[in-house]
Amino acid sequence: MSTPAFAEAVLATRNAGKIRELESLLAESLGPVRVLSADEAALPEVVEDGVTFEANALKKARSAALSSGLPAFADDSGLAVDVLGGAPGIFSARWAGTHGDDAANNALLLAQLSDVPDAHRGAAFVCAAAFVTPDGTEVVREGRFTGTLLRAPRGDDGFGYDPLFLPDGSALTAAELGPERKNAISHRALAFRALLAAIRAD
Ligand code: IMP
Repeated sequence: MSTPAFAEAVLATRNAGKIRELESLLAESLGPVRVLSADEAALPEVVEDGVTFEANALKKARSAALSSGLPAFADDSGLAVDVLGGAPGIFSARWAGTHGDDAANNALLLAQLSDVPDAHRGAAFVCAAAFVTPDGTEVVREGRFTGTLLRAPRGDDGFGYDPLFLPDGSALTAAELGPERKNAISHRALAFRALLAAIRAD
């Protein structure tokens, strides 16, 4: 694949923060690219029934490329806990049963880990980032943001499992770092940087 000369792409998300984040990563590596959101490109809903982050990210990017006719990006992410064999994984958003109930998800995870000693509370936020073009090029890369799970939440400047997650080498949880500092080192940034490097090199 030669370096893609595209001025527009779509990111299969409704999250405006993720759109800006990708635009700035693209500007650093491939040049200025306008990134349309799922709403702007009128993307259809996709059932995330893959059993890996990679499968879900690819499914969303394929659907977005097909329906928009534009190069498409998508990502899928979650928390993988060492002693739980990588769970909650793809079930991170609905670990306690209700999609997006962060407080219930965190409470359940803390209860599950209550007997696990500090030395064994390792975990990683994992993100798969996918790129699919309408002519069938497909690239996917993974990013892992590693750390340790605390015994009680700390910080309110985050979402999901951020208040329980102490990144390796950090004294602050992901919910205390704040989005700007966290986004610079997160699984999503790592996955998208690797993805854009692969697109550029191919
Ligand atoms: P999504 O694929 O980005 O929508 O993430 C799915 C779920 O994984 C979220 O609802 C959160 O529970 C969890 N998750 C993913 N990334 C993060 C993060 O950076 N911080 C905290 N939780 C996250």
